[in-house]
Order: sequence, then C-alpha cells, then structure tokens
Amino acid sequence: MSKVTEETVRQVLSKVVEPNSRQDIVSAGMLSGLAVRDGHVTFAVEVDPKRGSEMEPLRKAAEKAVEAMPDVLSVTAVLTAQRQAGANPDGATRGPAAESPQGAQKGGMAPGVKYIVAVASGKGGVGKSTSATNLALALSTLGVRVGILDADIYGPSQPRMMGISGRPSSTDGKILKPMENYGVKCMSMGFLVAEDTPMIWRGPMVQSALQQMLRDVAWGELDVLIVDMPPGTGDAQLTMAQQVPLAGAVIISTPQDIALLDAKKGLNMFRKVDVPVLGIVENMSYFCCPNCGHQSHIFSHGGARKEAEKFGIDFLGEIPLDIEIRETSDGGQPIVVSRPDSPHASVYRDIASAIWSKLEAREGRGRAAPRIVMQ
Ligand code: ADP
Repeated sequence: MSKVTEETVRQVLSKVVEPNSRQDIVSAGMLSGLAVRDGHVTFAVEVDPKRGSEMEPLRKAAEKAVEAMPDVLSVTAVLTAQRQAGANPDGATRGPAAESPQGAQKGGMAPGVKYIVAVASGKGGVGKSTSATNLALALSTLGVRVGILDADIYGPSQPRMMGISGRPSSTDGKILKPMENYGVKCMSMGFLVAEDTPMIWRGPMVQSALQQMLRDVAWGELDVLIVDMPPGTGDAQLTMAQQVPLAGAVIISTPQDIALLDAKKGLNMFRKVDVPVLGIVENMSYFCCPNCGHQSHIFSHGGARKEAEKFGIDFLGEIPLDIEIRETSDGGQPIVVSRPDSPHASVYRDIASAIWSKLEAREGRGRAAPRIVMQ
C-alpha cells in the first residue's frame, strides 16, 4: 500500500507559491481535480487563461514537489483555465488551451512516432473506439509498428478493448512506459484512474492531458500512433486536433443521416485546423445474419460513401454490424486478432492498408507497402 494520500499531496502543494499573488496554490484555490491512486498522482492547477503561458514554471514546480515525495510513482499535473462561457469553436485558437505552454512545441511530443493519426467521430456510440482498436491491430498485422493512445478521457475504452489491465510503470517517476498487448503499445487515462471514478475534467484539462500522454510516455519508435479521440466536435476536440502534430484523421460514421450530419462537423473541424482527413469509414454499415450470411441494409446504406464523394474525401470502407465484432472488442480480443481469417478482419485490414498507403503517399516517399503477415 502506498502511503501517498490526497492529504499528503495537498500538504506538499501548499508549499508551492505562485509568485504574483505570493500565495501558495492550495490556499489560492488553484488546485483542482486532485486524485491519488496507488502512488499515481494527477491534479490540475487552475490559472487565469490570459496568463497561461507564464504559468508553466508554476506547473513544473508543483509537479516536481510532488515527484519528490517518497512513494510517488508518477505525477500528471496539468494547467487548466475556466472555460470562457459562450466561446465559439473558432475561439479555440484564442481560448485558454491555446495558451497552454506546450501548445506551440509540437516537435517535443512523441518524437519517435512517424505518423499520429486521429480516429474521430461526430458523436458517441458510432463505434469509434472499436474501429480505432481493430485498425491499430490491423496495421500491426501489416507489419507497421503501432501504438494506440486513448484520448477519450471521459470514457476510456482501450484498456477493455485491448484486454489490458494494471498500471503503467515508470523507471524515473516521470516518463511512463506504455502498456502493450498483441504487439501494440497502448496508453489510456483508464490505466491511471479507477474505472468507476467519474471524469470531471473540463475541456482545457483534457487538451493538456493529451499533450502529456504524448510527451510523458515512452512511445519509442513507431510508424503510426492511433489516437482514439473523444467523440464530438466541440472546443476540446478542436483544440486537441490543433495542438497535436496530426498527420491525418479518419472519421468513423454510421449510415444514419443524423450521424452523417455529425460526421460533416468532424470533417469541418479537421479542415479548420488543416489536418488532412484521410477518409471516412462507415461502421455498422449493414447487418450480417450470423446464420445465413444474408446482408440486410437496416439503415440507409451507402450514405457515408455518398457524403464522402460530395466532400471530395476518400471513402475507406464499410464495416458490418456484427455481433462477433461487438463481443470480441468488448471482450478484449478484437476480431482482427481473435478471428484473423474472418471476412470482417479482412475488411479492417483493407482499410488499414488504405490508411497506410495514404500516409506514405502524403509523405511522398513512395516506400513499398509493408510486408503483409497473414496469421
Ligand atoms: P464509440 O467509441 O463511438 O463511443 P464504441 O467503439 O465504444 O463506440 O462502440 C459502442 C458499442 O458498439 C460497443 O459495444 C461496440 O462493441 C459496439 N460496436 C462497434 N462497432 C460495431 C460493429 N461494427 N458491429 C457490432 N457492434 C459494434
């Protein structure tokens, strides 16, 4: 049992003084979201959005002070600012998170990673995480070195879908070693916070958490890091997309019109921040009868393809609604690894291969397609 508690962390932080007010951050009411779990400490320092960048030394000092405590295994300290009421999505460039100190230093994040690719959706429940996981694993079977970063901080799914439990370790108390399963590295807030702990983090904290998970995790050399984005197209997602050096984004959509409207918002969001949209994937595209194999197009099938055409964006493929996809992903053995010879696994592999080719083509290296390893 670790001896670190919220109280002992609070005591240590009450010695960290904000130079302007000369008050310590605890009595100044700047400390929020403090959570301690098995020696892993996370907290936020609330600052005036206008002074965000000046506050980085204070964040560092707070982090250092807690790191120095015996029994502390890792510290994640983020700067946060009250979200300005009524800020429009465009305001993200001027909003609090844009002042986050690391915002401009894209280069410092995950330097050994060749392509960071966001998997996004206009709304929740469309199968974004399921697709992100299966695509990451499919890329891996194509011989690509892959990691998956669960940025869906409000509802992390990757520990469950990747079948990973436990806590990441750290040799120096600063940099976390990513977890790993099926040859794919994985990091998620879900490893640091108990599953039943409600996520009370606000937009700006989410944005810096993603930066920290890129910067403070030993991702090593990877070809692709898939980022499972939080669903939606609000300020938090927009700023995340802006502050992380994304090579491209893949939009997951269901065929329903409503979802397509949301998917359009997703497209516009990435366009706004100049991140190339690699394409749209239609998930739960048609229903595959497990008994006779008959395909029923329950929803208006083909909508995503049409939309993609209209927008001049590539359509990457259709994934059926299939109980096996649900059971295997939710059971931590995604279909790409548990039933590699199923037609569904092959759909994921085709999409993954299209994504890889597009990344390489954009890079203009004309590198040969990776070796295909069939299991
Ligand atoms: P999101 O990340 O968009 O919120 P999830 O990936 O968590 O969505 O998926 C929501 C639920 O739908 C999960 O239970 C998942 O297993 C299931 N699901 C996702 N895609 C499919 C599919 N193609 N066929 C059947 N079930 C699916």
